[in-house]
Amino acid sequence: MRLFQCGCRGCSGMFMATPADGGGSGPTPASGGPVDRAVLEELAAASRILADQGVVDAFGHVSMRHPNAPDRFLMAKAIAPALVTADDIMEFTLDSVPCEDKGRSAFLERFIHGQIFSARPDVNAVVHSHSQSVIPFGLTDVPMRAMFHNAAFLAQGVPVFDISEKFGATDMLVGNNEKGVALAKILGDRPVALMRAHGSVAVGPTLPLAVFRAVYTEVSAKLQTTATLLSNGGRIAALDPKEGELADKVNEGASGRAWQLWKERVGAA
Ligand SMILES: [Zn+2]
Repeated sequence: MRLFQCGCRGCSGMFMATPADGGGSGPTPASGGPVDRAVLEELAAASRILADQGVVDAFGHVSMRHPNAPDRFLMAKAIAPALVTADDIMEFTLDSVPCEDKGRSAFLERFIHGQIFSARPDVNAVVHSHSQSVIPFGLTDVPMRAMFHNAAFLAQGVPVFDISEKFGATDMLVGNNEKGVALAKILGDRPVALMRAHGSVAVGPTLPLAVFRAVYTEVSAKLQTTATLLSNGGRIAALDPKEGELADKVNEGASGRAWQLWKERVGAA
């Protein structure tokens, strides 16, 4: 039986994983193979970038699919995102069982990542955060919209995962595979989903684009709150779905420029 440390606010200490959590006793799964040190450095940089950009604080995490094994993913051990280095990266199956833990604790909410990778072959990176400006949109009936071109990916619509609909009263955390499956189902084919009274997930085909989406989801949420106040109940001229589709194509290329800048800021360039 392994012990896992929760990475979320609202609970603390060690958690005993059960077989239903995907962390039960049994043979250690095989690794998908060695990963270039440069790739691990990029993933560690992504974690520190998200902290630097104010998307995560002591909590939250980012993962990427194993570059050579689509049924494995990589994610840091359970530590604050700003402190992650390449040596902290662990490997998991899509059921979120560690391939080798070396005595390290895993994030309780790693099931978010495993089940999104399982449901979405097009996704190669996942960010989970509790970024503050986004949370009100998961608490109210106000839909999140794309306030400007950098947030164009939001114009596809932003679903809200309400964990209570399927699981009743919970600790709000996606702490097993069943909850991960339910979240991935609500996300569907979208780039972002909100999690009621908790946070959000942003996904992408590449690590820089998933980080870009997480950052600009937070920025757009701030802008929407400001626009709502200014509009005083009037129209908000957000991007429509067609504008979103066109503008997001530009973002896919432009995210590389942001990635270089953000890496510089965290000493990873
Ligand atoms: Zn969380």
